[in-house]
Amino acid sequence: MTCRVPPSHRTLDPQRHITSGFIRKKGTHVNPLDAILKPKSIAVVGASRREGSIGREILHQLIEFDFHGKLFPVNPKADFIHSIKAFPTVSAIPDPVDLAIIVVPREGVLSVIDDCGKKGVTGIVVITAGFSETGEVGKKFEAQLSERVRHYGMRMIGPNCMGVINTDPEVRMDATFALTLPLVGRIAFMSQSGALGVAILNIARQIDMGLSFFVSMGNKTNVSGNELLEYWEDDPQTDLILMYFESFGDTKRFMQICRRISKRKPLLVVKSGRTEAGARAASSHTGALVAGQGLDVATDALLEQSGAVRVNTVEELFDLALAFSKNPLPRGNRLAILTNAGGPAIMATDTAIAHGLSMANFSEQTCQELRRMLPPEASVQNPVDMLPQSDRSKYDACARILLEDDGVDMLLVVFVPPMLISAMDIIPGLEQLRPKYQKPVVAVIMATEEFFVELNRDRPNHMALYIFPDSAVNALAALDRYRVWREKPVGEVKYFEVRTGAAEELIQEVCRQGRGQLTAEGSLRLIGYYGIPVANSVAAASREQVERVASELRYPVVLKAVAPDLVHKMDAGGVLVDIRGPEELRAAAEKITESVARHRGGRAAADGLGFLIQEYVRGGREVIVGMTHDRKFGPLVMFGLGGIYVETMKDVVFRVPPLTDLEARDMIRQIRGYNLLRGVRGEAPIDHGALAQILQRFSQLAEELPEIAEIEINPLLVFPQAGDFRAVDARVRLRGNREEGSAPRRL
Ligand code: ADP
Ligand code: MG
Repeated sequence: MTCRVPPSHRTLDPQRHITSGFIRKKGTHVNPLDAILKPKSIAVVGASRREGSIGREILHQLIEFDFHGKLFPVNPKADFIHSIKAFPTVSAIPDPVDLAIIVVPREGVLSVIDDCGKKGVTGIVVITAGFSETGEVGKKFEAQLSERVRHYGMRMIGPNCMGVINTDPEVRMDATFALTLPLVGRIAFMSQSGALGVAILNIARQIDMGLSFFVSMGNKTNVSGNELLEYWEDDPQTDLILMYFESFGDTKRFMQICRRISKRKPLLVVKSGRTEAGARAASSHTGALVAGQGLDVATDALLEQSGAVRVNTVEELFDLALAFSKNPLPRGNRLAILTNAGGPAIMATDTAIAHGLSMANFSEQTCQELRRMLPPEASVQNPVDMLPQSDRSKYDACARILLEDDGVDMLLVVFVPPMLISAMDIIPGLEQLRPKYQKPVVAVIMATEEFFVELNRDRPNHMALYIFPDSAVNALAALDRYRVWREKPVGEVKYFEVRTGAAEELIQEVCRQGRGQLTAEGSLRLIGYYGIPVANSVAAASREQVERVASELRYPVVLKAVAPDLVHKMDAGGVLVDIRGPEELRAAAEKITESVARHRGGRAAADGLGFLIQEYVRGGREVIVGMTHDRKFGPLVMFGLGGIYVETMKDVVFRVPPLTDLEARDMIRQIRGYNLLRGVRGEAPIDHGALAQILQRFSQLAEELPEIAEIEINPLLVFPQAGDFRAVDARVRLRGNREEGSAPRRL
C-alpha cells in the first residue's frame, strides 16, 4: 500500500507483533471484530433510492471508495438500488454476508437482527438512532437490541453511529455518510460523537491527513472503546490512535490497555464533558478540591497515568496528529528555530519555554557554518534569523547545518512569505532532509489558506505544516512529552501486608450502628490497619472522662472536640495543642466545650460532644492524603500540602488508584511546594521513598475497601528522619445506599 508516513515513524515492533495478539491468517476471521472492520461482503439494510437519504449515501460511499468485496443492498420494495441488484431480506442473499449495516427505522431493527441471525451474519453496524440517547422508550429498545445481538453471538457497533471506515487496500470500506472520501493513512480514529465524526472526516481530508480506520462508536452498546483499542494495538496499518469521547466506561481496564498500547503507539485523546465528583464537596477537603479545580481532574489524572496525550480541542487534536504522524520521536527536548522573520520566532521561543522545551545551544562549528552561509546582519544564535530574502538554498543549507548538530533534537522552520519567494519552493528541500536525520522537523508557513489548498493538491503527504507558531510548538512539545512517557518505566503496583479483615470489621460495626462516618479515632485506627503511622490517641466520650484519664497521660498532649457535625474542628475552636499537664487539660476541655457551644449557636451546646486526646507531635511538615469517589471514574487519590489552609493553597495532585511506586513518587514531586518537602534553608529532606510507600498503602486501602466513599488524612505530619510520619487527623465517610454505586458505563 502507499505509505503516507515516513518509515521512521513506524512504531510497531515486529517481534512483538508476531508473538502477541491475533495472528491473522489469510481468509480466516480470527478476531470477531474483523467481521465488522475487515468484511469481505456487506449488506446495506435499508438501502434506498432516495437521494440524500442515509441508506443511499452509505451505499454510494461504499461504491465510490471501491469496496473490495461484495455489496448487497437490502430493500423489500426495490429490485435494484444504485444500479445494483437488491434483495428483500438479508437471508435472501445467496452469498455469505460478513457485515450488515442497518439503516432501517428503529422499530424495524430487531427483526433485521433476527434475519441476520438466520443468515449467520456476525458483524453489525447500526446507524439508526433513537435508542438510549433519547430516553426511556429508546433505552428499552436498546436493551432488547443488546440482548438479541448477544444471543446470536454477533458483534455490533452502534446504534446511533455514523459508520465505519477501513482504508486498507484489501478492504477499502467507507461505510459512512460523510461527504468526502477518506485518504489512506496510518491513523486510526475513534469518535463517540456522530456529528463530530462527520466534521472530523471532512477536516482530515482538507488537511491531507490519511486514516487507517475510522469508527463512530455511537452508544457503545456492544463493542466498547477498550475492545477497539486492543484491536488497533496490533494492527499493522495503524501507527497512531486518535480518540474523541464523552464518557468513559471501564476506566480501570482503559488504564491498563492504554498504558500498554501507549508504550508502542501514541494515543491522542479529546475528552469533553466534566467529572461529576465534588457534588458532596463540603464534607472533605478532597471533595472540595476536586470540585474547586473546575477542571476535569479525574480525566487528566487517568490520561496522564495511561500515557495518553490529552488535548482540549479538536483543532489541537489535528495539530498534534500532524506532528505525530509525520515525524519520528525526538531524542531530547532541545529545539532549534530557523526563520526569515523575527516576530514569529520570538513567539515560538516563548511558547517553547512555557511548554518545557529548551532552546538548543549550538556548537561552535554550527555557528561558524551558519555565519559562512548568512549575511552579517543575520543572527546565528537560536532562533536563527536568516532575514527576509532567504531563498530555498539558504533554508536547505541552514536546516542541514542545524540538523547535523548533536545538540539539536528537533527543528522548527518558520517561513513568512516575502514577495518573490514562494513557500512551495522551500518545502521540498526540507522534506528531503527529514529521512536522513531522524529528527522531528515541522514548519510554520504564514501563508493564506489558498496556499494550503494548493499544497495539499500538488504535494500530497507533505511534512507537518502549521499556519501559526504556537500550534507548531505545542505539537513538538507534545511529541517530547510523549517521548518522556515512552522512556519512563511504568513502575509496579505493590500490595502490602495489611489488616484488611480488621478494617472491614470496623466498617461493618459502624454500618450496624447506622452511622455514615467513622469517628476521628476510628478513622485513625482504620488507616493504622493499613500500616500508616498514626499519633497515639485516646477517645473520651465526655468532659468527665477526659478528667478521669488526665492523670494517666504522657504530656504534652492535644485535645480535640469530636462530633459528627464538626467537619473542621479547628474552625469551631475545637483543637488545643501543646497541653502540658492534667490541670491544663481540664481547662482545655472547658474552653473547647465553650467554643463549640458558641460555634453551634448556643443551642444543644454540649450535645454529643466527645473528645480525642492525642500525643502532641511537635514540628513536622503537614501534608494531606485523600480519596474521593467520582461517579464515573471510581476512586481518585489526592496528595498535597496539608493543614488547615489546604483549600486556600490548592497545592494538590490527583491520581487514579492503584498507584505504582513511580506514580506515587511523581505525585510527591509534582506539587508546587515540593521544595518544602525537600527541605529549604538547610532543613533536611523528608524520606521521599517512605512517603511514596504511604501513598501506595493508601491507594491499596482505597482499592480494597469499596465501602468507603471518602477518606482524608489531614494532616499527616512528615519529618526528615527516615520514615517518620504521624497522621493526627483523619475522616472516613461511608457510601450511602443509593449513591456512587452505579455500574460503570462503557468506554
Ligand atoms: P481539623 O482539621 O478538624 O480542624 P485537626 O485535627 O486536623 O482538626 O487539627 C488542626 C491542626 O492542628 C492540624 O492541621 C495541626 O496543625 C494541628 N494538630 C492537630 N493535632 C495535632 C497533634 N497531635 N500534634 C500536633 N499538631 C496537631
Ligand atoms: Mg484536619
